[in-house]
Amino acid sequence: MPDRMLQFVRVPQQTPEKRAVTARRTDFDEIYARFAADDAARQSSRCSQCGVPFCQVHCPLSNNIPDWLKLTAEGRLEEAYEMASSTNNFPEICGRICPQDRLCEGNCVIEKGFESVTIGAVERFITDNAFDRGWVQPIRPAAERPQSVGIVGAGPGGLAAAEEMRRHGYQVHVYDRYDRVGGLMIYGIPGFKLEKDIVLRRWKLMEDSGIIFHLNTEIGRDIPFAALRARHDAVLLATGVYKPRDIGGPGAGLSGIVAALDYLTASNRTGLGDEVPDFASGALDAAGRDVVVIGGGDTAMDCVRTAVRQGAKSVKCLYRRDRANMPGSMREVKNAEEEGVEFVWLSAPEAFLGDDSVSGVRAVRMHLGLHDASGRQSVEPIEGSHFTVPASLVIKALGFDPEDLQSALGQRDLAVSRWGTLKTDRRTFMTSLPGVFAAGDIVRGASLVVWAIRDGRDAAAQMHRHIQQNAAVAAAAE
Ligand code: FAD
Ligand code: SF4
Ligand code: SF4
Repeated sequence: MPDRMLQFVRVPQQTPEKRAVTARRTDFDEIYARFAADDAARQSSRCSQCGVPFCQVHCPLSNNIPDWLKLTAEGRLEEAYEMASSTNNFPEICGRICPQDRLCEGNCVIEKGFESVTIGAVERFITDNAFDRGWVQPIRPAAERPQSVGIVGAGPGGLAAAEEMRRHGYQVHVYDRYDRVGGLMIYGIPGFKLEKDIVLRRWKLMEDSGIIFHLNTEIGRDIPFAALRARHDAVLLATGVYKPRDIGGPGAGLSGIVAALDYLTASNRTGLGDEVPDFASGALDAAGRDVVVIGGGDTAMDCVRTAVRQGAKSVKCLYRRDRANMPGSMREVKNAEEEGVEFVWLSAPEAFLGDDSVSGVRAVRMHLGLHDASGRQSVEPIEGSHFTVPASLVIKALGFDPEDLQSALGQRDLAVSRWGTLKTDRRTFMTSLPGVFAAGDIVRGASLVVWAIRDGRDAAAQMHRHIQQNAAVAAAAE
């Protein structure tokens, strides 16, 4: 082992520089700077090269983290890039937006009392640096294959599968109802976490690799699903989950109460230079308004922080549990608090006040009760604890469910779970329809980019197997 490693006793943990709050409140640029090469090497050298690397065990992609940290510490950056990209299609994206505190870094076992290796920031550095130096090149398959695959959905799940299939030499067609590639990475996740250029750069690389995109094309509406199946040797459904969970109660229909994804999409599109009528009219713009976001997940965090940047008068987040029991990443909560967001823990909305437009939220205090079968504490309202929060824009960020794909695709035989997600064979990734595979949120329910990438890669391996088996059978029959 080189004496460069195991430096955690001598070198303290350092995260990339975070921009000052006053600056970052006013724009949508990423808040973390990139490591300088020296810093990346120094931080990588803190790794103790564990025999059983728990960081890797808890990375959904089983990235070879200790190996690429060692290469980075030694300045062998091209090899580090080769290694990082061998298990991850979009390392620079995961390095930015994985909840590392719950995954790799949260499981780094540097001795107690020392903070974890900054794995995500190094992964981001390795790939950004590789792009800068021209080491990231389009895919050039060794040989072209005659068969084609149709991938429905250009989110991380569909895109990872597209790359893997193209590497095998297939003719890859990706269909998406949006006008841009990226799925939630382009229209859901805000620029201050993931700048749009990073996603657009990948889109260009994929086009240069020969992957064909059919945008503004909704399967089931613009192209019947049966026609798509007939066109390709295998089909992958990676359509994500988009049906927002709603909230009822008195006043729920007032204007000024909007869904999180409508709000975030309008903001992201505006940032990309699109004309968005609902943003221009003010309906989806938080500027000058008292904003209340309902929910405690990552989508809620993205909404509160977007509202701050749009110049809201005040921004509050209402969540029915407490800080320790919220699903959102602690890092994002801390960032939001720094930027001036007020969290109203243990509070749930009961009614929305106002005549035509919302003017306030009547909420009730909650307390955490006994643990239920899932291990989570139940939440119960505290009688007589009502209070009112002023609000001229209420954003509902309560999570997402799958749309009814059986109806959308006109396929009653497409098996779904009781939650509406697609049922797949756990080994083959195939749905109940022969030759139709599925990956990402539409199988798991709302999850993470890194899991969608993992599923896309695994599904691609199975599609390859399926197509080759069919080809062998056809050849034998001739
Ligand atoms: P998606 O990214 O949803 O892509 C699905 C694509 O399918 C879309 O482009 C859609 O237009 C297309 N599509 C759907 N139906 C059709 C059809 N019939 N025909 C053609 N196209 C269709 N994860 C993280 O890891 N870190 C984060 O910080 C993070 N932040 C998030 C913030 C927000 C606001 C949201 C909503 C999610 C966030 N996530 C985050 C979760 C992450 O974005 C998703 O888990 C991931 O994008 C799922 O990938 P996917 O490929 O399954 O689906
Ligand atoms: Fe960590 Fe995500 Fe990178 Fe895996 S992909 S090493 S979990 S940042
Ligand atoms: Fe290095 Fe931490 Fe992974 Fe161990 S757990 S190999 S110290 S990054």
